[in-house]
Amino acid sequence: PPLYRQRHQFVIDFVKKNKPRKVIDLGCGECSLMKKLRFHREIQHLVGVDIDVHKIKKNMHDLAPISTDYLHPSLDQLRVEMYQGSVTQRDARLRGFDLVTSIELIEHLTPADVERFSAVVFGYMTPASVIVSTPNSEYNPLLPGLSGFRHCDHKFEWSRAEFRSWALKVCLEYGYEVEFTGVGRAPEGQQDSFGFCSQIGVFRRPEGRDRCPRAEEVFSYTLLYCMNYPSL
Ligand code: SAM
Repeated sequence: PPLYRQRHQFVIDFVKKNKPRKVIDLGCGECSLMKKLRFHREIQHLVGVDIDVHKIKKNMHDLAPISTDYLHPSLDQLRVEMYQGSVTQRDARLRGFDLVTSIELIEHLTPADVERFSAVVFGYMTPASVIVSTPNSEYNPLLPGLSGFRHCDHKFEWSRAEFRSWALKVCLEYGYEVEFTGVGRAPEGQQDSFGFCSQIGVFRRPEGRDRCPRAEEVFSYTLLYCMNYPSL
């Protein structure tokens, strides 16, 4: 399957295994991950955020319940919300979730904004777990015809060491633990030299930590869509 599907499948497998109830997808773009996650009804609150209001407005209606949702209402509640906002800014409505995903987003931010992103996500939103994916620049020589970055809007593409050093700094500063993995394997025997095409960090807040420490109530996002799914 194409790489974006593998990244989304990684999140879905995590959801199946860990059963988060409240999930946020940051930089949700075309909402394609949200459209899949809404079928996982252990999730009760699903939130998408993107800075691009046109993208949200074009795609949000695809998140509405379909006829089977009305014919066979679930026992579980599901509320879906879409916000326009920037991951460099705080919003109190997004605090204390179980899972925050950031799939191929940070490489679109300037280094100063990556710092703000870290403070907003790990320092303010303080979710129980965070999945961050970003290109692994060491894999680029295996991509045919590529010169420079994979996308013209990328502000950087990190090596495994660069991603690791950012992630470990985040852990130290905000009290998380991280495991590194990825999707898109290098050919047989070359995995060690090139790594995964997309590198992924799975961050967790250690058990027993205050899930939602006191913080200032800031509201900077705009709610564009909100839907309560039918339930019994
Ligand atoms: N996560 C999606 C996926 O996996 O297909 C889309 C990834 S797309 C490469 C990056 C997305 O991040 C775009 O939809 C863009 O509008 C959004 N984005 C860029 N900067 C942002 C910011 N500061 N705050 C929120 N979203 C942002």
